[in-house]
Amino acid sequence: MNIDLLRSKLKERFCRYAQIWTTSDSSFADKGTIPSTECQFELAKLLVEELKNIGVNNAELTPDGYVFASINANCDCSIENSVLFCAHMDTSEEVSGNNVNPQIHENYDGTPIYLQDQVILSAEQDSQLAACANVADTIITSDGTTLLGADDKAGIAAIMTAIEYLLSNPEIPHCKIELLFNPDEETGHGMDKVPMDKITSKIGYTVDGGDASEIEAECFNAYCVSVDFMGIAMHFGYARGKMQNAVTMASNFIQMLPRNESPETTDGYEGYYCVSNITGNVETTHIDVMLRDFTTDGMERRIAAIKTFAQCIENQFPGGKVILNIRKQYSNMKEEIDRSPLVLEKLNQAVKNAGGNAKLSPIRGGTDGSRLTEMGIPTPNIFTGGHNFHSRREWLSLNQLELSCKTLIELAKLYAK
Ligand SMILES: [Zn+2]
Repeated sequence: MNIDLLRSKLKERFCRYAQIWTTSDSSFADKGTIPSTECQFELAKLLVEELKNIGVNNAELTPDGYVFASINANCDCSIENSVLFCAHMDTSEEVSGNNVNPQIHENYDGTPIYLQDQVILSAEQDSQLAACANVADTIITSDGTTLLGADDKAGIAAIMTAIEYLLSNPEIPHCKIELLFNPDEETGHGMDKVPMDKITSKIGYTVDGGDASEIEAECFNAYCVSVDFMGIAMHFGYARGKMQNAVTMASNFIQMLPRNESPETTDGYEGYYCVSNITGNVETTHIDVMLRDFTTDGMERRIAAIKTFAQCIENQFPGGKVILNIRKQYSNMKEEIDRSPLVLEKLNQAVKNAGGNAKLSPIRGGTDGSRLTEMGIPTPNIFTGGHNFHSRREWLSLNQLELSCKTLIELAKLYAK
């Protein structure tokens, strides 16, 4: 396979994967069912078959829906030189992912792309799309009725094509590579049943990012606080001086959260509080508060603030109670990745060798890579060329997907040395 073929291979693969319905379902995943939807097995089985067809004979599918495979080094580099490439098979449940119908816009010239009714992509309002128009890139979108699923089928296409390229060019030395395609990243449970016993790599890369050359090696520390407000219910006619309304307690508590530290008022390295859910009545009201912060100190400050606000509410509503249940969700991978500087050094070099210019940016969320990093495999995230994730306006740049694939090939070459 010639390097000039990468582009057509990537386009064909991506469009084929995108058409397979793999929406995950957090209501099942939260109860421990992984994969959360049977349909994810369809893509998993297809990938195992396809890996075998391109010469990866040890490809296997675990009962929990993980595709795992490896190819050996073809040089005498040490056995330590092994990297894990990882991408997820599911798509977000926020927008339908059933009957995805990829639309290919060759030689994109910047004119508005009319997808459906009100769904329009405009280079005028999207500087990244405008940048693609400047180089007559090929843009892939859905037909406007679904998401596209570049998150993360673009990542899968990049990994599969890089592996096919390396196997068909045995004269290019590469390190040992392990592949992991996992279910349920979008539900936050992508690494719950990861077959760690099979993985020997000490270094990993997820291919699940966005714009060209963007590398993510930092993410939020994340906590979720369940808050139960226990009021005192009473016949409203005789409530004076006796009733404590749990709904009022919850609403007063929410008012104490700083409005300028919410998801909709922050970006970059700013953290936030976010009430994601509220249910209840006069007697008991329940809310979930998401806490996000890039620093450990910042997270401690947020947790302390929540405790103080809870105390204030108890003081304001004598006889009422506020019960906090504070749970860690994931932590910032930066510290762990900084301990193995080679992981980012090689990645920067690989992007450069592939023709890009790596830029580091923080992820305002968690990734499978942050979970893998916690489990001892430092795993930054590599761009795929996908944009507007979890949206009917999701689009993919073929130039950028090609750069992502070339970056993986360059990484495999760099670790061979
Ligand atoms: Zn993703």
